[in-house]
Amino acid sequence: MSSYPPPRKRLGQHFLTDPRILGRIVDALAPAADETVVEIGPGRGALTDVLLQRAGRVIAIEIDRDLAPRLRERYADDARLTVIESDVLKVDFGALTGGPYVVAGNVPYNITTPILFHALRVPRPLRAVYLVQREVAERVVAPPASESYGALSVNVQAVAHAELVFRVPAGAFQPPPKVESAVLRITPRGDAVIVAGEEEAYRALVQASFGLRRKQLRRVVRTVCSLDVEAADRVVAAAGLDPEARPEVLTPDDFARLLRARRHWRRDT
Ligand code: SAM
Repeated sequence: MSSYPPPRKRLGQHFLTDPRILGRIVDALAPAADETVVEIGPGRGALTDVLLQRAGRVIAIEIDRDLAPRLRERYADDARLTVIESDVLKVDFGALTGGPYVVAGNVPYNITTPILFHALRVPRPLRAVYLVQREVAERVVAPPASESYGALSVNVQAVAHAELVFRVPAGAFQPPPKVESAVLRITPRGDAVIVAGEEEAYRALVQASFGLRRKQLRRVVRTVCSLDVEAADRVVAAAGLDPEARPEVLTPDDFARLLRARRHWRRDT
């Protein structure tokens, strides 16, 4: 086959070539020899090559019409690789894998957040490792009250543990992106603070609360839940929270209690 088409900016194509970094990404995922890896955006297959040396099976989802068939052809003799030509956000990982799986991806930066949440749908992966923009990784792992803590941190940490494993300089990519990158590991929690079915309402509450991150909680609840002063104070008290606290200090569990207190209050009125 002829040489690769030039990288497509629109698809966030920045290809990794450094074998040391590729190896460290796979080390961070630590796939077992019988595990299935869902790889997001394999591109020219640099990470896929290393994954296939370590995992049992790789299902790679690539949207690029030129790159997907090339990867399929390159591995035509290896039944352990399946290449799906699709937008990853349209693929149901549970249906695709039919069992336990892990996720890996050097993901397109313009759709990182939708990808993170897509891969946190039930059935969740056992763990996931992503190469993302460093600033996004820092936001995901940020603890309460820190500068980077926000809706993204809460919504991920409500259902998973998140770690920034190591940083990757822009020069490691071809072409180099304008920003620094980092490897992020997300491990779904057995003790998630929200249950399936609560995600949407939880995310909406968290998002709206951080829109008022410098306001006191009683004011936030009044605005976000459209309640009068007295009702807002009762909801905050029922959640066991300080009415003068600000959203930026609440833990994922605090937000879950707030969500349930609001629901009970609605049911009671
Ligand atoms: N994994 C390769 C590497 O490390 O060199 C490529 C990484 S590149 C940053 C992101 C890849 O995701 C590209 O191959 C791009 O075509 C693909 N991509 C972009 N949007 C996508 C989508 N919605 N669904 C699936 N793949 C996508």
